[in-house]
Amino acid sequence: MTAALASSNNTDLLINGQLQRGEGAQETVINPSTGEALCSIAEASLEQLEQAIFAARQAFIGWSRTTPAQRSRVLLQIADAIEQQSAQLAALEALNCGKPLHLARQDDIPAAVDVFRFFAGAIRCQQGQLAGEYLPGHTSLVRRDPIGLVASIAPWNYPLMMAAWKIAPAIAAGNTLVFKPSEHTPLSILALAPTLAALLPAGVLNIICGAGDTIGSPLVSHPQVRMVSLTGDIVTGQKILQAASRTIKRTHLELGGKAPVIICNDADLDAVVKGVREFGYYNAGQDCTAACRLYVQAGIHDRLVERLGEAVSSLRFARKKDSDNELGPLISARQRDRVASFVERALSQPHIERVTGAAVHSGPGFYYQPTLLAGCKQSDEIVQREVFGPVVSVTRFDELSQALDWANDSEYGLASSVWTQNLDKAMQLANRLHYGCTWINTHFTLVSEMPHGGLKRSGYGKDLSSDSLQDYSVVRHIMARHGTDLD
Ligand code: NAD
Repeated sequence: MTAALASSNNTDLLINGQLQRGEGAQETVINPSTGEALCSIAEASLEQLEQAIFAARQAFIGWSRTTPAQRSRVLLQIADAIEQQSAQLAALEALNCGKPLHLARQDDIPAAVDVFRFFAGAIRCQQGQLAGEYLPGHTSLVRRDPIGLVASIAPWNYPLMMAAWKIAPAIAAGNTLVFKPSEHTPLSILALAPTLAALLPAGVLNIICGAGDTIGSPLVSHPQVRMVSLTGDIVTGQKILQAASRTIKRTHLELGGKAPVIICNDADLDAVVKGVREFGYYNAGQDCTAACRLYVQAGIHDRLVERLGEAVSSLRFARKKDSDNELGPLISARQRDRVASFVERALSQPHIERVTGAAVHSGPGFYYQPTLLAGCKQSDEIVQREVFGPVVSVTRFDELSQALDWANDSEYGLASSVWTQNLDKAMQLANRLHYGCTWINTHFTLVSEMPHGGLKRSGYGKDLSSDSLQDYSVVRHIMARHGTDLD
């Protein structure tokens, strides 16, 4: 795959149903598996941003009054179109993120399709409070209505899937959108833009490109934007909250994680090794739910570290043949160097042991070796901070209550897991973990029907599930006075 593929697809912005060349600064898009430039994308100008906002506001008048069935039909058409374009979209996702192509095909694209199909169904069977006469002579009913113009800002780890998570519930609920992909990974959603333009009324979905400070910031600060949805870094979330406070916008923030994985003495060792090998390193650990912070009970600790070390060192990457690869590179040289500096600082502590990895890969691209560090203490930076790379720490514990305290001692609150063959123990731990999600004897797996979102500094607001439809809509009370005497 080459730069020719990147530039043979649409790279124009989508504004008011029209594809438009960006009129702002040029951004170079890089292939992280080689470090080579793929193409350059012109950012939106501030004037184009205004046009997109105006278009979305105008489109809201009509779109917000369509029925769930009408919106559902369009969502189903979008899902079908993604499926039809899946080979092209998977190729672009692989090229732009460096992901193995077979994984983009098997995971990212079908997940995006399923999200559109799920919301097409969910919007037609919403449930809520009963209408009734709560005051004699007055009938009350509740409507769930769209919020208005939503600004959606996506990260680079799963570009098309994140776009689906943001676009599908927002338009299903009757809102209109200005969507901004990460400046690192705009290719897949831009390639889909002509199809989206053909299926959606003009202005319902506008796609603009640009960096956070040049385009993201004016977008989220715009007074006509009624809600901002971000998946990104905590610092970006803080900036968005500040901008939102000026005009009291709603916010929906998904801001990363540092998932604890509690492994008890009675866990199935084979299953743990297989699970952490996969769920700690998938997408090169660039996943906010990655199984990256292990707490391992003393009785199983040494065997686990040994077995996991072997398993992690067998992870395949940077091979010529796509199907041989299990993970890709980091998204950028900067991100790779950030990962490397976390590991260097960790290994400068005498108590931390390198089990495997801990080096930048010597070939081209932004690869970092899958890394396992043992002997980590709760207060260590590597245990406390999100690395967003293929690095897993191991901390030994004796008592379950200690593991639980340490697992909850985090600024993050997105995902967690518990590994034990004792259901009592599993349920007690799961119920006490302060995380948006806790898996038992697995990790990582999401389904469109279930909510995904965090607590604490991982943010708030739910993606996926009908909870997400609630976040993208507002409850309104309508009361009709009709008296009590019929004659
Ligand atoms: P980032 O915050 O740097 O960028 C995310 C998006 O925000 C990009 O589109 C960027 O252009 C935009 N942005 C940056 N500054 C902005 C500003 N001032 N105003 C408006 N927009 C701005 O994050 P990233 O590096 O792209 O993604 C990695 C982060 O995302 C990680 O911390 C990760 O944990 C988090 N993440 C969270 C989840 C989740 O569901 N909780 C999922 C994926 C990624």
